[in-house]
Amino acid sequence: MSSKSALAQRLAIVAGFEDPNVSLEQYRTPPELAAHLVHTADLQGDIEDRTIVDLGCGTGMLALGAALRGPTQVVGLDIDPAPLATARDNERKVASATEVEWVRGDATQVPLGPDGPTTVIMNPPFGAQSGNEHADRAFLETASEIADVSYSIHNAGSDAFVESFAADNGGEVTHAFRAEFELPHQYDHHTEEQRTVDAEVFRIEWSG
Ligand code: SAH
Repeated sequence: MSSKSALAQRLAIVAGFEDPNVSLEQYRTPPELAAHLVHTADLQGDIEDRTIVDLGCGTGMLALGAALRGPTQVVGLDIDPAPLATARDNERKVASATEVEWVRGDATQVPLGPDGPTTVIMNPPFGAQSGNEHADRAFLETASEIADVSYSIHNAGSDAFVESFAADNGGEVTHAFRAEFELPHQYDHHTEEQRTVDAEVFRIEWSG
């Protein structure tokens, strides 16, 4: 297994959204956070020899991180075709051994039924800006249906919501960690040049 920092370095080349769509809450996960999530998952045995599904994959940061760590297959799903084109370019640049299948679809409609042990990794829309609080709920619902383990990034303060959602849906939060990341100045409603987002990452085991 390569180190976490080597993984972050390889992911630094992954381009973000060319023309981000604010209503879809499109922003690229920073390479350091993506590397942290994937490396942690790998140490838990949740990447190698498993199917990895990235729900709301955008330009592919998390899917490509996983593809560098020996999974059986990787699927990246997004509702917007524009970032998927960037994801394909990013895949060529990253040159991972495992190929990624990029699929256009709605992550909230359970579009996939992967075979075998499946891990979902995702940085879904939070719904915090749009007033659509817990837009991430529908993504967790899909994870609960297709995966036996998931890693998801949520905004800070989501722990009570995530824990009770998991408990109500045959899941259990086994790990949680805090993360901070900088949002680039890409949306009009961000007045400062950069904004730091406090986030939380959860590992959930699904038994259903
Ligand atoms: N996972 C990427 C992008 C995170 S931004 C990364 O970590 O860098 C959230 C992504 O979710 C965006 O690409 C957006 O287009 C996508 N998205 C929003 N609603 C969606 C839906 N209903 N189904 C699938 N993808 C969706």
